[in-house]
Amino acid sequence: MSKKSFSFEFFPPKTDKGIEKLKTVSQELAELNPEFFSVTYGAGGSTQNCTLDTVIDMQKNSGIETAPHLSCIGSSETQIRDILTTYKNSGVKRIVALRGDLPSGMQDIGEFHYANELVAFIRQETGDHFHIEVAAYPEMHPQATNFDTDLQHFVGKIKAGANSAITQYFYNNDAYFRFVDNCAALGIDAPIIPGIMPITNFTQLARFSDATGAEIPRWLRKRLEGYGDDLESIQKLGQDVVTELCTKLIEQGAPGLHFYSMNRTDPSRTICQALDLSSL
Ligand code: FAD
Repeated sequence: MSKKSFSFEFFPPKTDKGIEKLKTVSQELAELNPEFFSVTYGAGGSTQNCTLDTVIDMQKNSGIETAPHLSCIGSSETQIRDILTTYKNSGVKRIVALRGDLPSGMQDIGEFHYANELVAFIRQETGDHFHIEVAAYPEMHPQATNFDTDLQHFVGKIKAGANSAITQYFYNNDAYFRFVDNCAALGIDAPIIPGIMPITNFTQLARFSDATGAEIPRWLRKRLEGYGDDLESIQKLGQDVVTELCTKLIEQGAPGLHFYSMNRTDPSRTICQALDLSSL
């Protein structure tokens, strides 16, 4: 088994076809022997039941530990307590704890303002039952006003009791390693796992990147844009670039990789196979 941590993220499917497809995808990715799977959670709790159902199905079908994401914005303490109890009773041992974003039109931010408060609440209510992951932003969270304050807020999540972190995706290794160094200088040695977004579709990637503040370097954006509708060339370049990114991350000491699978097998499996995970 690899000494590095490899994991894959999925979103809860909305249709019967999506559920069947995800079953196949998670079984295929389980063959790579990841440390865990994770399943996202809709803003404001909109996919709460879908996340739970997906986590339970996935854990049962794949045999891989599966972590629900849990966002707190818009929720009361009672709601979060009930969800934690359900997860605990369902055998869940790992949670990705987030603030999340209020869906447009929703006014009530609820009883939690930031993710550090959720982490502290999970610890207060459930002790050490859950391994808690939090989000990290090597290129700064899009709503943050400056990098140092954002970094302090990240440190606050670890100090509140998080065990490790998964980053927003990036295509610039320097941003990641500088972030890790800055954390180390502040006494943070919790693993910070790079989030990896395979490139398969430029339009979708550009939309995500605009929303999340994850930068696509100019040279890469121009080359991907230049391919227009030629998906094959986009995928070929994307695969080369992301495989090289992952190789350098691992070579330079990243503790593992967390793949945003987008509920597909091939984009992340191809990269994992090129890295030869079992040898790392
Ligand atoms: P926080 O860590 O609370 O930070 C949010 C902002 O508030 C930052 O700008 C920070 O600097 C600031 N801040 C933090 N603490 C304080 C404080 N104490 N005082 C003042 N300001 C503060 N979204 C979903 O809806 N569902 C998902 O499943 C999901 N999964 C994700 C998984 C990963 C690995 C990542 C990186 C992101 C994910 N997101 C998800 C997106 C995430 O919900 C958004 O980025 C959201 O805007 C911030 O959530 P957070 O937990 O990082 O917030």
